[in-house]
Amino acid sequence: MTDLYRLLPEEMEDLMIEFDQPRYRADQILYALYYKFPQNISEIKQLPKEFREELVNKGFTIGSAKEVHKIESKDGETTKLLLNLEDDSPIETVLMQYPPKKLLGHPRSTVCVSTQVGCAMGCVFCATGQMGFERNMKAEEIVSQVIHFEKILSSKGQHTTNIVFMGMGEPLANYPETLRAIQLLTHPRGFGIGQRNITISTIGIISAIDKLADEKLQIGLAISLHAPNDKLRKWLVPTASPNSVEDLIKAGKRYFLKTGRRVTFEYALIEGVNDSTETANDLAVLLRNNGSHVNLIPLNPTAGDFRRPKRDNVVEFERILYNSGVNCTVRVEKGVEIAAACGQLRTDVLGKYNNTGIKSQRQ
Ligand code: SAH
Ligand code: SF4
Repeated sequence: MTDLYRLLPEEMEDLMIEFDQPRYRADQILYALYYKFPQNISEIKQLPKEFREELVNKGFTIGSAKEVHKIESKDGETTKLLLNLEDDSPIETVLMQYPPKKLLGHPRSTVCVSTQVGCAMGCVFCATGQMGFERNMKAEEIVSQVIHFEKILSSKGQHTTNIVFMGMGEPLANYPETLRAIQLLTHPRGFGIGQRNITISTIGIISAIDKLADEKLQIGLAISLHAPNDKLRKWLVPTASPNSVEDLIKAGKRYFLKTGRRVTFEYALIEGVNDSTETANDLAVLLRNNGSHVNLIPLNPTAGDFRRPKRDNVVEFERILYNSGVNCTVRVEKGVEIAAACGQLRTDVLGKYNNTGIKSQRQ
């Protein structure tokens, strides 16, 4: 079985040659995939019926993920989809919308994609990490998450404006499929989103960060740091070794030098764990003068015992960084009530639905 969403435009053209079809058939298929969102090959009406049948008979398919649940936040700005992959693995993907800056503008629509079913990194504060690792996702499974939302958005005259690899899993631990997904999503004859509108978040696999820098892409990189020293980081991210905090910061610098793209350090703020003024000062010393940006993410509640710091502590942490000249923002929180925020994605691998307890709309 090959999902047509897996193929890059050049590969689609090669396939047409194999099928003895004119080259323009590749563009017909690509147009259908990225603008019409067919459910199956027989819906690509631009193709002759015999060719559609031939594709199906040779094991080609469309759509590796089926929507089984959709939950929307009360303000309508966050939507979480539960998708079932071909092997029935359940995964979650999220759309976050930000109101337009101008009266008649369109909202910013960011799709947050998952790259693995579960995650092997085991971060103690992350719901995905606590469910363990099931498997890597294929590129077409990553792409199909964006397609599901694009279909919803385009019916309202809107479009996906940004894609962040911040859902379930560690994207750089699934490097080849993540890279292929990026190529499919950014190819002008594929989904066609700008590279600058994509950000990958990583727990910090240094060899993969260097490899990504060598791809010379214009995608943004966010490195999840969470601590200014190795002892604390190793406790929060048990699989962190042998990557030291210092090595991660150096890897971020190399990425910046090779791509020209500023690197963000993400820092999940956890009450009584990594939110003290002393910790903020240590972080400031580490990061000042290196032009990087810190994104503070006040912890979102998961199954564990960890708590979000009080608002004043978050502000104080930010102030210390800011006063030391470290560029810093606090992440706008979205989707907490539907368990769609950072670190909250988790699906019951035995099969069923979401972990919110909220009655959701059956599709
Ligand atoms: N595996 C990658 C990308 C997915 S997690 C990574 O770890 O970077 C995306 C972001 O959510 C990371 O910065 C992660 O640290 C953060 N995160 C995980 N659990 C969280 C939680 N409970 N509250 C807030 N942020 C969390
Ligand atoms: Fe995996 Fe990222 Fe969660 Fe850590 S924070 S367990 S790396 S998904």
